[in-house]
Amino acid sequence: MPNDVLNGIVLRTTDYRESDRILNVLTKERGLVAVTARGSRKPNSKHAAFASQFTYGEMEVNERMGKLQLSSSTVFESFYSIRESYEQLLSAARIASACEHVADNNPNDALFLLLYHALSVISYGDNDPKDTELCFMAKLLKLEGFAPTLTYCVRCGQDLRKEKEIRFSNAMGGSVCERCGSAFVTASAVALEAFRRMMLIDLADMRKVRLPEAVRNELDSLIYNYAEYVFEFTVRK
Ligand SMILES: [Zn+2]
Repeated sequence: MPNDVLNGIVLRTTDYRESDRILNVLTKERGLVAVTARGSRKPNSKHAAFASQFTYGEMEVNERMGKLQLSSSTVFESFYSIRESYEQLLSAARIASACEHVADNNPNDALFLLLYHALSVISYGDNDPKDTELCFMAKLLKLEGFAPTLTYCVRCGQDLRKEKEIRFSNAMGGSVCERCGSAFVTASAVALEAFRRMMLIDLADMRKVRLPEAVRNELDSLIYNYAEYVFEFTVRK
């Protein structure tokens, strides 16, 4: 089998045997792949730099019996500064985990670009990493076809943008007026508007997202509850 060249970002690493590491990588060419990096935990390994979480680079792989092995690698960007704070690391790890959950082995340029931009902003931006994480999740929901309704009641169609009391239903896919769904969780108009804008902004503007603390806390709960409902997974640790 000839070697294949793949561009990718390492989402997760798992130590294997004495010195090997298995890399779960989101690639431009083949979507999500698992690659064995033999000997990469040895101090002088040629793969040591590439075989760590969040690294973006190019891999040359060979395929044996359906399994990919790393033969050479080039690091384009290590995103090393993500490790400078616990909050940055946690947000980046949740982003990588969500990517791994939704990705399959088909190329997905939009998902790759979203991941790349989110990691760049967490690494080099000066906004709160949680804001980038929430913006990533909002965009991921939209990308995967789960953009919720946020400006009118999903049941009766009433415009909710001027309402004070709004409800949100995961099962119904968005905002619900007080009359139609008083049993659902409450949501503030300002948080729903921030959610809507985060889904729509350009990737280059992710670094400008700065949520007021109350909105950040509200969306951290609302967006994750909704994402976990539609994606059927738990990201939060
Ligand atoms: Zn209604």
